[in-house]
Amino acid sequence: METEKTVREIRINPIVPSESVLVATARNMRPKKAEAPAPRDTRRHVDTCPFCVGNESMTPPAIATYPAQGLWEIRIVENLYPVLGDDRENPNLNLGLQQTIDGYGRHEVVIDHNAHGAAVHEMTESHLALLFGAYRARMEQLYRSNRRLRYVLVFKNFGPAAGASIAHTHSQIIGMPVVPDNVQMEVVNSRAYFVKNHRCIFCSLIDEALTFEATLYDRESGQIRRKIDVGQFVIERGKKFIAIKPFASRYEWEVHILPLGHQADFLDSSAEDHADFAQVLRRTMARLDAVLGGAQYNYFLHSVPHGEDAAGNAASFHWHLEICPRTTIPSGFELGSGLFINTISPEIAAQTLRAVALD
Ligand SMILES: [Zn+2]
Ligand SMILES: [Zn+2]
Ligand SMILES: [Zn+2]
Repeated sequence: METEKTVREIRINPIVPSESVLVATARNMRPKKAEAPAPRDTRRHVDTCPFCVGNESMTPPAIATYPAQGLWEIRIVENLYPVLGDDRENPNLNLGLQQTIDGYGRHEVVIDHNAHGAAVHEMTESHLALLFGAYRARMEQLYRSNRRLRYVLVFKNFGPAAGASIAHTHSQIIGMPVVPDNVQMEVVNSRAYFVKNHRCIFCSLIDEALTFEATLYDRESGQIRRKIDVGQFVIERGKKFIAIKPFASRYEWEVHILPLGHQADFLDSSAEDHADFAQVLRRTMARLDAVLGGAQYNYFLHSVPHGEDAAGNAASFHWHLEICPRTTIPSGFELGSGLFINTISPEIAAQTLRAVALD
């Protein structure tokens, strides 16, 4: 392994150029405090846990279970404390510049597995394929049930540092009347790129990641200025999906999974897609777990928003899963400036993840 050079540079997110990250790897800088790893709750069953088998009466009734009969493996219920709900039908209030949109929406919990402490990398690939199939089916039903929903966000918090309030493995689905700003920025910028270059920027980034090496020459002297091993950002590759370490990663161990072929809407993914996706996800999570020793993380599914203008983004947007392990506590500098600091160079992080020997 080549010795680690100290890096201090601002990297521009190629998809959303207004989002940049400061990659600062000098050990003596310590710009951020490390998040203490939380001991993982590996129990199979906890008598007092509302998400455990046998305690179904402690949650609202199931919206869906997989399988539909017998012992459930995945169970979807309404959130007891929804951040958005359908109980209010107030007209939108306008107070001068301070406008509100009715907090209409749906908030549901997906109990990912019937085993209390199961981690994603310990689940079988067929189970993970079933889970992502369940997300897809629920997203479709929500979009169909209400035309006012512009976005259905699927996300998972795992570990207290990632905001999980219940230890039992679960994820959440929130249907919203607005498109979240970070998704909207990806939509707007990828569309602008498409208008200019007639290509999906996500597809272009995948092509670039699959290019083994790029050499940058100085325009005047013809000398080699910098050689970049572009393939170094690939973490996992399946038949239909790829896991990539983003060049401008906000989080030290952030990894994104994307379909290799262009697909804007997660709703267009098939059971066959989910089977391949599940393999790439499980292997990626196993690498993260091996390196981080019990990763606390969030993952978010970014798919093309629905509503008016959705068709206009079909060629330029490309759905993906963002996996963001929480290993450091955001500093005041980051919160105040919006400039994230990454203390591990993405190239070294990718190399470390790839070096993990999997079965
Ligand atoms: Zn439980
Ligand atoms: Zn694409
Ligand atoms: Zn995204």
